[in-house]
Amino acid sequence: MYNIQKIRADFPILSREVYGKPLVYLDNAATTQKPRCVVEAITDEYYSVNANVHRGVHFLSQQATELHEASRETVRKFINAGSTNEIVFTRGTTESINLLASTFGEAIMSPGDEVIVSVMEHHSNIVPWQLLAERKNIKLKVIPMNDRGELLLDEYEKLFTDRTKIVSVVHVSNVLGTVNPIKEMIATAHAHGVPFLVDAAQSIPHMAVDVQDLDADFLVFSGHKVYGPTGVGVLYGKEEWLNKLPPYQGGGEMIQHVSFERTTYNELPFKFEAGTPDYIGTTGLAKALDYVSAIGMDKIAAYEHELTEYATQRLKTIPGMRIFGEAAEKGSVISFLVDDIHHFDMGTLLDRLGIAVRTGHHCAQPLMQRLGIEGTVRASFGLYNTREEVDVLVAGIERVSKMF
Ligand code: PLP
Repeated sequence: MYNIQKIRADFPILSREVYGKPLVYLDNAATTQKPRCVVEAITDEYYSVNANVHRGVHFLSQQATELHEASRETVRKFINAGSTNEIVFTRGTTESINLLASTFGEAIMSPGDEVIVSVMEHHSNIVPWQLLAERKNIKLKVIPMNDRGELLLDEYEKLFTDRTKIVSVVHVSNVLGTVNPIKEMIATAHAHGVPFLVDAAQSIPHMAVDVQDLDADFLVFSGHKVYGPTGVGVLYGKEEWLNKLPPYQGGGEMIQHVSFERTTYNELPFKFEAGTPDYIGTTGLAKALDYVSAIGMDKIAAYEHELTEYATQRLKTIPGMRIFGEAAEKGSVISFLVDDIHHFDMGTLLDRLGIAVRTGHHCAQPLMQRLGIEGTVRASFGLYNTREEVDVLVAGIERVSKMF
């Protein structure tokens, strides 16, 4: 049983109004709203536990450390990692990819080596590699897609050379909603002896993700997209890989011993966590993961799939509707344009009706170039959205269309 009314009641913001209209929040791919339990866990920790973690001898510091490390265990369990040594806390997906591009680039890559990414990557899975390309003269190779928004796996296979050092691809596109066949793509990379980074920013909130089943070498995501707080995220890395990489930033926490002559580094995962961690944020993230786990990731996936199907069918009845991304496997994201109405105008007018959608290039300008457009309107659903909200969206678009 998926009790949507009970779920909605957990999110206080959903009952507010915008311009005198009930809020219809359809910008979940950008960030999700927070259930009361997450906000309360954060507040409670500030009110009754707060102390800096690790090495503290006093009661509060030990309690805060226990909470922080218990959160790491919650993340481990959520993605089925083999060990908490493989769970590095970061500020989010972007920092996780930068950490990896920088350290992997430093330790493993030489000038002339190659990274494979796809045409549907978010800028955060393009630019860190380009920065590395500038520093180290490495090359980016790009997996193309068909017009439905599906990656061309034959072309992918052809991109491998003996200079390919890593593949970094998004699990679910934040624009097209395409669910890439990531397990198969990982197996292909491994057949060439190449490790694989999964950008799971848009999959973790919507489906069960098992890093051991996927055999992912690295996997990254953000807390705020999975009903957790902003400013905290995760880099999962296989222990054998993380052990090969140098530290990212220097400072407290990441060291074992410091002298002016020689400094040694802490063990995993602390080697990659310089400075005071966001130990309150990790508590919030763990609470959010507990929250979605209690509903059940498979139930969430089924509910959202059904909702997205309904929305797609309804949207297609609107004259002049063009949907971008019609992959066979699709997540809960719908990008569209109607006639020649500018995406920005559509978004602004929908906002006046209380409907929050995102407009623009969605941090995927190379993908926009491939599609031959400047931007889209994007409706993205979360576990609390309803068919009634889809109906409000459709009526809103029809109203805006008539104005033009
Ligand atoms: N990757 C994908 C697929 C995304 O959708 C996003 C955010 O929209 C990111 C990476 C970047 O996430 P963050 O801004 O939380 O670091």
